[in-house]
Amino acid sequence: MKNIMNWMGGDIAIDLGTANTLIYIKGQGVVLNEPSIVAKSRATGKVIAVGNEAKRMLGKVHHDIETIRPLRDGVIANFEMADGMLQGFLNKLPLSRLARPRMVICIPSGITEVEKRAVKESAERRNAREVFLIEEPVAAAIGIGLDISLPVGNMIVDIGGGTTEIAVIALNGIVTKESLRVAGDEMDEAIIQYFRREHNLLIGESTAEKIKITVGTAISEEEYNIAVKGRNMVAGIPKTIEVSSSQIRKALSDTIDTIVDSVKICLERTPPELSSDLLDQGIILTGGGAMLPGLESRLRREVDLPVNVAEEPLLSIVYGTGKVLDEIDKYQDILY
Ligand code: ADP
Ligand code: MG
Repeated sequence: MKNIMNWMGGDIAIDLGTANTLIYIKGQGVVLNEPSIVAKSRATGKVIAVGNEAKRMLGKVHHDIETIRPLRDGVIANFEMADGMLQGFLNKLPLSRLARPRMVICIPSGITEVEKRAVKESAERRNAREVFLIEEPVAAAIGIGLDISLPVGNMIVDIGGGTTEIAVIALNGIVTKESLRVAGDEMDEAIIQYFRREHNLLIGESTAEKIKITVGTAISEEEYNIAVKGRNMVAGIPKTIEVSSSQIRKALSDTIDTIVDSVKICLERTPPELSSDLLDQGIILTGGGAMLPGLESRLRREVDLPVNVAEEPLLSIVYGTGKVLDEIDKYQDILY
């Protein structure tokens, strides 16, 4: 039975995120959730691994293997690797090679026309019957369960790895938007810089991310401590340093200020009738960065509007893209 279903249907929705790629197959749910990472051989230029397998190689690879995040800053820095990554993920799906699925792909709203075309072509090469693109904030809004066809403004703030996408959506369209290349990765980078500057300690990206997720906060609530292992820059030897939430909060403050300021700019540019809707509807935070403790209250304090975090910030987009795939006729207007 399963084979027949795969043969017949198998339409696919993809959240092509800068940090994580998620794939939903119609009738099967979310079947893939892996980091947007590729490992390639320097010698042959070939993709060796994608996703979880490539992540395990990150920072530990020998000179012949290079790991790349092709969408890192929300732009497709490396078309060949972005294509290799998408193909690698599609190959992992429980689908017949002969299936000709319809695909809806969610992309950062800041990417260029050329990049959009490259994503479409990449999917078409993998036998897609039809490929549609949808923009991130729109997919997030649908995934959260908002009815975006109404003449009511909703603001979505999606804080991912490489980009933060801020948009006011009404009547099936984006009214105002800001797409900035400051999000989770920038927070990790700020933590790396903090240890370098204040403690002469070199730490890697995964350590920085772990520190952010365990003790990072945007306002002073509870305080946590963490022992951080790194390499002392002067002596060159491994060292452990204990830091607290308040120190990490200082390290993160510039990045968080940038995000808050962009929300304010987007609010200023929103037409008055829709701004008044926001007094009731408020702002919804989503994406992995929305899970930083205190971010919600910090934003609420600064903009004086209701602010809520989506129920499953890492899944809103794939859910929304999946809903659009399931009812594709209803959503024609918002697809590319
Ligand atoms: P993208 O859509 O760009 O792929 P995601 O929405 O998947 O990004 O979010 C990934 C980002 O969220 C990463 O920078 C990750 O470190 C961050 N993140 C995940 N969990 C947390 C958490 N609990 N607190 C803060 N940041 C988090
Ligand atoms: Mg995302």
